[in-house]
Amino acid sequence: MSDNFTGNFTQQEPIPEEAIDAALAVLRHGRLHRYNVAPGELGEAALLEQEFAAQMGAKYCLAVSSGGYALATALRAVGVKPGDPVLTNAFTLAPVPGSIASVGAVPIFVGVTEDLTIDLDDLEVKLDRARVLMLSHMRGHLCDMDRLMQMCDAAGVTVIEDCAHTMGAAWRGQLSGRQGAIGCYSCQTYKHVNSGEGGLLITDDEELAAKATMLSGSYMLYERHLAAPGPEVFERIKYTTPNVSGRMDNLRAAILRPQLRDLDRQVQRWNERYAVIESGLRDTPGLTIVDRPEAETFVGSSIQFLLLDWSPERIAEVIRRCATRGVEVKWFGGAEPSGFTSRYDSWRYAESERMPDSDRILTGIMDMRVPLTFSLEDCQLIARIIRAEVGAVYQS
Ligand SMILES: *Cc1c(COP(=O)(O)O)cnc(C)c1O
Repeated sequence: MSDNFTGNFTQQEPIPEEAIDAALAVLRHGRLHRYNVAPGELGEAALLEQEFAAQMGAKYCLAVSSGGYALATALRAVGVKPGDPVLTNAFTLAPVPGSIASVGAVPIFVGVTEDLTIDLDDLEVKLDRARVLMLSHMRGHLCDMDRLMQMCDAAGVTVIEDCAHTMGAAWRGQLSGRQGAIGCYSCQTYKHVNSGEGGLLITDDEELAAKATMLSGSYMLYERHLAAPGPEVFERIKYTTPNVSGRMDNLRAAILRPQLRDLDRQVQRWNERYAVIESGLRDTPGLTIVDRPEAETFVGSSIQFLLLDWSPERIAEVIRRCATRGVEVKWFGGAEPSGFTSRYDSWRYAESERMPDSDRILTGIMDMRVPLTFSLEDCQLIARIIRAEVGAVYQS
């Protein structure tokens, strides 16, 4: 059984026809800038915000140019200043510490558990060192959000949620991004909706919503927002909030609206694929499955497994063998940042303390995207290949 996989791990589905039609309509009338609307017209960006706020049960929503921009805007809105410490995950992607660095603040990294979530015991120890936590739901794994929010509320720590991998996920039925003061989402091609680049920010706090809107570059046109607080709130902050342009345009918003309407169905399709791969990998000697907690509703747009306590050489051998058979397994623990993977000690603009327990886990994290262009048969084949190659190296 040496069949190889020939699919593409970075190929997403085409943009739906309905979204293409909406995009063409914007191109034909030419009003791409979100504030360029005909008399009485509601622009696509404003409608997107209104619809996403309703979908998430949030009071306010702002559409911006990227997920990373949403994170940085959230930090500015909650008042993070240059030099301020900000708690964040050691296991995440580079745009997260990058957003902290972009406002001149200083990340304090919190460790990772075998569940691939933030280590709440480590957080407890570090909680008094900052007043903001940038919580990354990295690869869609939700920590015990009840305990986390209890700890942060008690300590007066404001939580910003990075939901780049949890759009459509939930903790005990509460949608991801609704527990913290602000939830941030990415609409970049490899996330759950695809506008090339793009971001969304939601909150129930009128002052944070107004500040974020001003920050994104609303000039004094904030009354054209359909999911923003009233003008009286903007009156309070409009002279003291700088314009750091990062608006979303009507073209991207037009592409996103039909995709968001289809999110639940897409989540189901991701999870069917995830379940096939997971069950194909279960009980592979030497390989640890990351079991999902009962309280978590997740989106299986990527899958992780652990090769715990394997030597780096043997892990590299597994990756090499899988690649030979067409299966791209990514390694977050690799010594050098590569593609989208990096480690907390790769971000050398930020100091970090060594975290031996986390290092053990990070070294063993294997990661794979699950694009919807894969069929369920593709997923079976991928699992068989990984199982065979892990087995071959494990027994050698
Ligand atoms: C993609 C991503 C972001 C930022 O998204 P961009 O839209 O690419 O700026 C933030 N956090 C995580 C974990 C991501 O994967």
